[in-house]
Amino acid sequence: MIPRFKPFLNWRELAAAFSLPRRDDVARFEDAFAAKMGQKHAIAFPYGRTGIIMLFEALALKGKQIICPAYTCVVVAHAIMVSGNEPVFVDSTKDDFNMDLDQVPEFITERTGAIIATSIFGYPVDLDKLDEIRKRFPGVVIIQDCAHSFAAEWKGRPVQREGKAAIFALNISKMITSVFGGMVTTDDTVLADRLRTIRDKELKPASFAKNLRRLFYLVAVYPAFWEPVYGFINRLERSGLLNRFVKYYDEGVIDMPADYLEQMASVEARVGMVQLSKYETIITNKRANASRYFDIFKNISELQLPHLNDGATYSHFTLLVPERSSVVKEALKDSIQLGILIEYCIPQMSVYKEYSNGEEFPHSSRFAQHTLNLPVYAGLSTNSSVFDRLYRVLSI
Ligand SMILES: *Cc1c(COP(=O)(O)O)cnc(C)c1O
Repeated sequence: MIPRFKPFLNWRELAAAFSLPRRDDVARFEDAFAAKMGQKHAIAFPYGRTGIIMLFEALALKGKQIICPAYTCVVVAHAIMVSGNEPVFVDSTKDDFNMDLDQVPEFITERTGAIIATSIFGYPVDLDKLDEIRKRFPGVVIIQDCAHSFAAEWKGRPVQREGKAAIFALNISKMITSVFGGMVTTDDTVLADRLRTIRDKELKPASFAKNLRRLFYLVAVYPAFWEPVYGFINRLERSGLLNRFVKYYDEGVIDMPADYLEQMASVEARVGMVQLSKYETIITNKRANASRYFDIFKNISELQLPHLNDGATYSHFTLLVPERSSVVKEALKDSIQLGILIEYCIPQMSVYKEYSNGEEFPHSSRFAQHTLNLPVYAGLSTNSSVFDRLYRVLSI
């Protein structure tokens, strides 16, 4: 079974994970991360969402409205709520998965605290439009959500530098991974110091047990993504037996993982260091795979393909199909798992209805129903038969 994503891991991450811990593992990872992103500071967190919550605190944002995409990972909205702020959702553009920045000014009020500009699926946010917003509303903080982008570029400008701060997520399904984990980067030294102080006050140190749990998790990931095992797990998953373990979110509740207030473990930082060194290879391979898809699908008129964008990192290769479930089934028959990564429009979820302000979000809800993401992971060779097989699946 070809999985919908696969972390780019080999023996080097295992060796790093099993090497002797050092006091400064996390600090070293932060420094390397900041350098790679071309930013002065990087501050590590147990999850990306913990980073968002603490960043709002460091920016003294409370009781504010936070403008964010209707079509993004739901944990972003959860983090806004847990931080004591409220989300204001904006629809996507028609043919790009990102938030429609032309609509953003209409939603800015005297209570607006920040805008979360997300480069969803690795497609860079339109920095020309963002520049206009920044000029018009200098009091509104811009935060880049780079969970999918990791240095995606808009006309040569890396997106992570174009705001007060940027947040990154590092779980096993992201561009690079530190098992779990998140990062906030910024060029603002005062903000970085404040954020670090808040983090060290509010998070408890990573316990030995957490290090051990993360190590076990990492070790379990290797066989789990081995193709025969993955097929077996996938069958269990579809049968519903694994729901307790794999369910990513629950529609009805706003919650956080049990250990969201425990520091990044040093084992995670050591794994993250190795991943950082593979970052260029990962992006290059993903772009090559995406470009292969553009090539083979260009003549299938029923598909709505994303824009070809040299600055995109293609964390996901996402397209729209008229009828998603039959395509997913057909691909499974051919042992290929397709992803439906964001299959919701957040303000249409029950817990966020009251924040929808009566808006319709036509594009975000269309994406929620019709997007499909294809395997594009760095370990997939452009010579793989997956491309031809998916051509067959998608051309009927
Ligand atoms: C994964 C993700 C996050 C945060 O992830 P955590 O699971 O909290 O580390 C934030 N934004 C987007 C768009 C994401 O995909």
